[in-house]
Amino acid sequence: MKIKYLLCLVSLSIFSQNTSKFFKAPEGYLLLGSDLHTHTVFSDGMVWPSVRAQEALRESIEIIAITDHLEYQPHKEDIPNPDLNRSYFIARQSVNEKDLIILRGSEITRSMPPGHFNAIFIKDANKLLVKGDSLAGIIEANKQDAFVFWNHPHWTSKKDGRMDGIAKLDPVHKELFSKNLVHGIEVANEDTYSEEALEIALKNNLTILGTSDIHGLVDWDFNIPDGGHRPLTFILTKDNSQSSIREALFQGNTFVWFKDLLIGKEENIEPIINSNLKLKSNGYVGETTLLEVKISNLSSASINIEYLGEYTFYKNSKFLSIPPNSSINIQLKTISKLKKINLPFKILNVVTGLRKSLKLDYDLEIY
Ligand SMILES: [Zn+2]
Ligand SMILES: [Zn+2]
Repeated sequence: MKIKYLLCLVSLSIFSQNTSKFFKAPEGYLLLGSDLHTHTVFSDGMVWPSVRAQEALRESIEIIAITDHLEYQPHKEDIPNPDLNRSYFIARQSVNEKDLIILRGSEITRSMPPGHFNAIFIKDANKLLVKGDSLAGIIEANKQDAFVFWNHPHWTSKKDGRMDGIAKLDPVHKELFSKNLVHGIEVANEDTYSEEALEIALKNNLTILGTSDIHGLVDWDFNIPDGGHRPLTFILTKDNSQSSIREALFQGNTFVWFKDLLIGKEENIEPIINSNLKLKSNGYVGETTLLEVKISNLSSASINIEYLGEYTFYKNSKFLSIPPNSSINIQLKTISKLKKINLPFKILNVVTGLRKSLKLDYDLEIY
């Protein structure tokens, strides 16, 4: 009996490492939650690298990247280690590789333009620190087969003359995209979100990312004890090998969970909503022509929807909110008893483009 119990625990824990606890993955895919932009005391962060790993474990995140600034180390007098890979090694050695995937990365830090870029899956951070030409670090990262993304393109900075919070392209960005030296873009960073960055991602076929860019403690900045979460990039992948994760990022198979929003390309986010928002007919209520439909949300995010069809509701309005991991029952006034029904919805907190939300149709059989 004891052994059986133990085995059950072991298999459960392996399963939890392999797929996200926050969203149900579409059939045939793994869904891994990641934060690909974090700092430690080895640049301008406030914590030792192993704390980053522990935070991620506590939050049930599958992947983090340690991306300390190459060019900015305010704690250098106290931590004079010359190896720019050091924070990654400390974090990686602090946990079992099976429990958390830690990616080696760096933040290439230049003023705008071109701005800040993260390179992950790098082989040696030291080689990225190239003085002079602002693109040399990005070029070296590409030589190391890194996945490179543009960080917080919408940041305000007086020094850089950017005070409007609008992500926009300079000629150097167009050059970087056309030469395929940059592969992704942050649409969410820390507590900010940019629809213009999303537009840039969609127009230039860049991978959509959301990151915490955490410097302090995740618990403090994102209110984790009270149910908060940091911005996360979910990666749809075949398996949890680093090569499959890298391939999925290059293919753009991601979506972002930022505050109450889910942000992503329609082809990625639609199967996620289909797997996590389920509708089922409960049939007609007694002798009435009130059709009861159960709407279940299997995810850890609230899902807010607007009914776009012809009927009105008995107990609700057309705006419905389904809390995380719960269900609601709605009653539609169909006037006559139907055998089947089509229910069209707009998913209000799923963003698929500039001023664009996801629309989904559900066809239900009525028994
Ligand atoms: Zn930055
Ligand atoms: Zn940063």
